[in-house]
Amino acid sequence: MASSSVKVAVRVRPFNSREMNRGAKCVIQMQDKSTCIINPKQPKEAPKNFTFDYSYWSHSSEEDPSFASQRKVYQDIGEEMLLHAFEGYNVCIFAYGQTGAGKSYTMMGKQDPGQQGIIPQMCEDLFRQTADNTDPDLSFSVEVSYMEIYCERVRDLLNPKSRGALRVREHPIMGPYVEDLSKMAVTNYSDIADLMDTGNKARTVAATNMNETSSRSHAVFTILFTQRRHDNMTSLDTEKVCEGANINKSLTTLGKVISALADMHGSKKRRSDFIPYRDSVLTWLLRENLGGNSRTAMIAALSPADINYEEILSTLRYADRAKQIKCNAVINEDPNARLVRELKEEVNRLKELLLSQGLSNLITASGKYTHTHSFWERCNKFCTPGFECVVVFLKTDSIRQEREALLAEMGVSVKEDGGTVGVFSPKRTPHLVNLNEDPLMSECLIYYIKDGVTRVGQEDVDIRLSGQFIKELHCVFCSEVNENNEVVVTLEPLVGAETYVNGKRITDGVVLKQGNRIVMGKNHVFRFNHPEQARLERERSATQEQQGEPVDWSYAQKELLEKQGIDIKQEMEKRLQDLESQYRKEKEEADQILEQQRLVRKDAV
Ligand code: ADP
Ligand code: MG
Repeated sequence: MASSSVKVAVRVRPFNSREMNRGAKCVIQMQDKSTCIINPKQPKEAPKNFTFDYSYWSHSSEEDPSFASQRKVYQDIGEEMLLHAFEGYNVCIFAYGQTGAGKSYTMMGKQDPGQQGIIPQMCEDLFRQTADNTDPDLSFSVEVSYMEIYCERVRDLLNPKSRGALRVREHPIMGPYVEDLSKMAVTNYSDIADLMDTGNKARTVAATNMNETSSRSHAVFTILFTQRRHDNMTSLDTEKVCEGANINKSLTTLGKVISALADMHGSKKRRSDFIPYRDSVLTWLLRENLGGNSRTAMIAALSPADINYEEILSTLRYADRAKQIKCNAVINEDPNARLVRELKEEVNRLKELLLSQGLSNLITASGKYTHTHSFWERCNKFCTPGFECVVVFLKTDSIRQEREALLAEMGVSVKEDGGTVGVFSPKRTPHLVNLNEDPLMSECLIYYIKDGVTRVGQEDVDIRLSGQFIKELHCVFCSEVNENNEVVVTLEPLVGAETYVNGKRITDGVVLKQGNRIVMGKNHVFRFNHPEQARLERERSATQEQQGEPVDWSYAQKELLEKQGIDIKQEMEKRLQDLESQYRKEKEEADQILEQQRLVRKDAV
């Protein structure tokens, strides 16, 4: 048993474009292991200092000698944790911090070179190291699961059939687990990358349908790593199992648990029953990783901007408390390991017995023991049948096919280019790409606009947005080829449907152009891609500097609000003018009537 503290790192990200535009100030400074924060409202106040295992300065760029790259973070934290995984320890790395602070970037990262986060780098390394293995008696298997906890409900991101929430149960020995959560066997890194990618897509589809905000969802990616050693002498297989969990989000209970654990270790009190693990599904599932049988590392993601001062300080305080948590990790050995030891002892004892009775010729030249019948019986009882892992593989493959079929039915492309991960953009067919508040969930779904008429939101739809018929989204895309052999796509909203193009509500058909932003209903935000137009634009602007804000979810939202704001003002002014002229007209009429009545009365007198 190894008692070790939770490794704690903090990392500060660069300013985002909004912070840049607002002229935000950086309130964080770092030097070696120490991080210090300055109160922007009280600049004279002494800065607050914290010390961590690692303080990562990622606020600048690669040219800065003190810059901490994705690689650096992985080398410090990921490599050590992977080493522990090979030793047979449970391993957990989690990121903590406010929305937008850089948790997903640190854990998952991006697919561009040098931008991959801890999880992909670790998976890649894991397979590289198992591939290097030359020991014929040592074999490995890797299984992964990917779940999301949203509002205390667990969703299986790798199994399309599990629509509802999964149950969390407790095994008397293994502890809390998720019932029926699918585990996929993987044999190489690209398998894992595919699963992560489809998992992220499933997450996006579900989140869009429920109009969920990413700040309340917690993703847990688990790797079950089994090392199987075949003992030649006894013909037994022993397993070392290691579970590595990666969480990219956190919630208040996690904060409370960290706090309570820190208190417990600080005051030497042993009141583990007092830790509020059970208050949330996340902490309940990660009970062992937070203060139990695990080697655990936490990365607190920090925003650098002055406006976030309070949140940054509270994240730093949590991270500071987490340092005091002690985990008692044990190497996970299965009962076979003990049996092997016992049998070896028995073998030696029998050898000695044979020797002492002058029957050493029964021991073969290679030193191997010729075993007795009861010995084999014992072995067989404990050997796992070889075909079991084949069953697992078959299962994996059929679930994968189901999942791909389901996503395809929703209009989502999966691996059409023969296996590469990420968004596959068709060469000619215009399509919609989803935009999401969470960059990880943005641009991962593609909806094709085929030749002819594509309906959205109707029973006979060609596009079922996020797998559902959504009534208020009724609209039609018409795609045709004009005389210049160009594909022209027109968007027609149907009566009652709320459809916006570049922030303006449309009531008549519009011809869509490359890069147009389309908002349908309340939650469905897309960018229209016209590959041919895009190619032309690129050629035209090849000499010009690339510039401007990225056309992402925030861009589409900002534009929508601005346009709607301006339109509402225009509308109000027009209404006011209408009212004024109506009032004038009514007054004139009233005056006329009054005048006429006066004349009538005069006549009568
Ligand atoms: P969170 O998951 O904590 O809500 P994200 O990881 O999505 O936050 O980060 C928000 C944005 O900041 C993303 O666009 C991400 O790419 C960017 N970002 C975060 N950390 C870094 C970093 N260290 N370097 C560059 N960009 C980063
Ligand atoms: Mg995130």
